[in-house]
Amino acid sequence: MSSSQISNESGRLWVISAPSGAGKSSILKRVLRELEGTAFSVSHTTRDPRPGERHGVDYYFVSRSDFEKARDRGELLEWAEYNQNFYGTSEAFVTAQVSQGLDVFLDIEVVGAAQVRQRLPESKSIFVMPPSRDALEQRLVLRGTESAESLARRLSVANKEVRCALDYDFVIVNDRLDDAVDILKKIIMADRCQLDRQRQKTQHLIDDFDANG
Ligand code: ADP
Ligand code: 5GP
Repeated sequence: MSSSQISNESGRLWVISAPSGAGKSSILKRVLRELEGTAFSVSHTTRDPRPGERHGVDYYFVSRSDFEKARDRGELLEWAEYNQNFYGTSEAFVTAQVSQGLDVFLDIEVVGAAQVRQRLPESKSIFVMPPSRDALEQRLVLRGTESAESLARRLSVANKEVRCALDYDFVIVNDRLDDAVDILKKIIMADRCQLDRQRQKTQHLIDDFDANG
């Protein structure tokens, strides 16, 4: 892709939520790998790492007391308790990345998403829906990361979370993964073409016509 299609004037903060198991990490991983100019906000969490998860890459895995200290010092843009653990986003990290012109993705649940929408109304939000309740359960079971209790709690939270889709700017149904990845990339590209993100570049082009016309 030509570099003229990668915005460098300002980045965008993207919030992406979904019921656990809908596939948002799978979609995001692909998009972050395949699209230049994107960055992932690595959250802080008090939950234990799953096999294969790396500190500083998937999450910062912290103790409850360290989490509470960071929160009480006002370092978190948003935070929430989910399935008996705390999760939160570092404000400094996100602000630095966006000011470098990157599209920054927050993979966060619905309570935190509402806090971001309120604090940063210029952010955009995407809700990923599974194709059905049954498909969600099947995906969570096949992923094999949850105990029976955690799985049941996640499904019960999902019943409430899906209603929050109505508060988001975009909804993507993750039926086929390739399609969902493609749609997310297209949403990002369309947003990069918005005049507000291209004012200086557009003005330079107009000036070029003025100077040489
Ligand atoms: P989330 O991040 O929303 O909790 P994951 O990305 O971990 O979800 O996906 C949950 C499980 O579903 C994973 O095992 C993943 O490989 C699988 N999965 C993701 N998208 C699809 C899809 N479109 N079709 C079938 N399985 C999928
Ligand atoms: P998981 O334990 O499956 O990694 O994540 C559980 C839920 O917490 C998911 O809905 C995920 O999006 C959300 N989550 C991850 N990081 C954050 C965060 O920093 N803040 C909030 N509010 N939710 C998060």
